Amino acid sequence: MFESCHPFAFFDYFRVPYAVRPELTAGHGERLPFSVHELRIADQSGGRPRSLLWPGTQAGSPARPAIGRYRLRDFTFFAHVALGGTVPDTLSQFGRGWSPAEQILGEEGQPQAAIWRDDDGSVFLPFDPGEVMLQFWSEGYERSGRSPVTLSGRDALLRGYYLVRPVLPRPVQLRLRRAYTRVQGRSSFPSWPVEDSLHTFYAWLFGLVAGLAGQPVPFLDPWPDGRSWALVLTHDVETDAGCRDIDLLRGPERELGYRSSWNFVPLRYQVPDDTLHALRQEGCEVGVHGLRHDGRDLGSRRLLAKRLPMIREYADRWQAVGFRSPATQRQWEMMPRLGFEYDSSYTDTDPYEPQPGGCCSYLPYFNESLVELPITLPQDHTVFSILQHHDADLWLRKARLLRERNAMVLVLTHPDYARDRVADAYRSLLEAFHGDSTVWHALPMQVAAWWRERASSSLRRAGDGWQIEGPASARARIRFATADEYHPVP
Ligand SMILES: [Zn+2]
Repeated sequence: MFESCHPFAFFDYFRVPYAVRPELTAGHGERLPFSVHELRIADQSGGRPRSLLWPGTQAGSPARPAIGRYRLRDFTFFAHVALGGTVPDTLSQFGRGWSPAEQILGEEGQPQAAIWRDDDGSVFLPFDPGEVMLQFWSEGYERSGRSPVTLSGRDALLRGYYLVRPVLPRPVQLRLRRAYTRVQGRSSFPSWPVEDSLHTFYAWLFGLVAGLAGQPVPFLDPWPDGRSWALVLTHDVETDAGCRDIDLLRGPERELGYRSSWNFVPLRYQVPDDTLHALRQEGCEVGVHGLRHDGRDLGSRRLLAKRLPMIREYADRWQAVGFRSPATQRQWEMMPRLGFEYDSSYTDTDPYEPQPGGCCSYLPYFNESLVELPITLPQDHTVFSILQHHDADLWLRKARLLRERNAMVLVLTHPDYARDRVADAYRSLLEAFHGDSTVWHALPMQVAAWWRERASSSLRRAGDGWQIEGPASARARIRFATADEYHPVP
């Protein structure tokens, strides 16, 4: 159906079938101001084949446009965008009658660039869709367009927070966080509690490629066994007290038949073997929540190297395959070095954490070979301690919205804070989806394993239709995206 001169990250992610044919680059003239990648409709009869074109990424090239924040239709994105000037000249080598079809706006709302179309219906995107995805997933956008001074200031603030926090009385901690919240509330991206940009971008691009293909585009559904969304329950145990209070949250889960994952800190308090054993006996999972919960595990490569042997030792002892960083501290390049099967330290959007931001994804994704499982419901601490909500309403609204979008609802609660409203709200959340036959209720390690199986499976032509090949073939389901509308619900 499609063939591409380079790997196309968007198709890889959704498991859309296509062939990589490096020989397609022949004729992509070397004198062009920027290199152009091409995805071609493979089985067109007659005429010039329709293509999707985009600029190749040339790290370090002087002709490379600057990275920026842009708006297209109703979503925000971050990428190196080819801004005009050299575009028409370059495109003239690839088709006839190119003209701007849709405007791309800059941060102030001014037109900056365009999506181009030619007479045959080919489309040129002035950015690399794979880069757009990576900017979101890695929170790379946090570093674009900000001065290094601001960044080091923020890092210093973060370090200060961890140094001071243990000695501050809890009410003072909360007052500080609420004051900080007023500042964070003003940041316009990512929006909170829901930031749709990345998923709206996916839908837009699906519509575009289905339009080019002139037929529905098959892809692999994110979830197995015909389930339409996933609910994943995780807990971080912060202190001794939390360790003793596990049943505040485990109790309602047990009653309603849920299983969950529990992340412990190896060297901050005594983690009784009996506790771990009892959780595993009930089918729960155990994960590693940093080494000491002091914000230093990922402080630098040197610190990580020093701590890693001990982190690995506890992971092996606890048979833990998952990691959750304390206070969701994260460094994109370092996370895969931790050696876990999955990490769950990114949030889809969270302006309230000491390291604010958001990957904007409510589906799992890869960081090298590490599966990232983003936290997609606001944390208990944010909702009940900082924002002082009284019930589960915010949780339920977002969870229902994510259910409609076939997404992953990944919940993080702490037994340490569960004495007040959290336990009641948590019970309401569990009750709301108890008996929902559309949900895949899974442990994070199961989601990570599934995501790997799905990523090593692909679609192949079989007669008039498609069939799934690979480890996910028995459980996966084929879906189709159409040109006029991308239907998230089959
Ligand atoms: Zn923690």
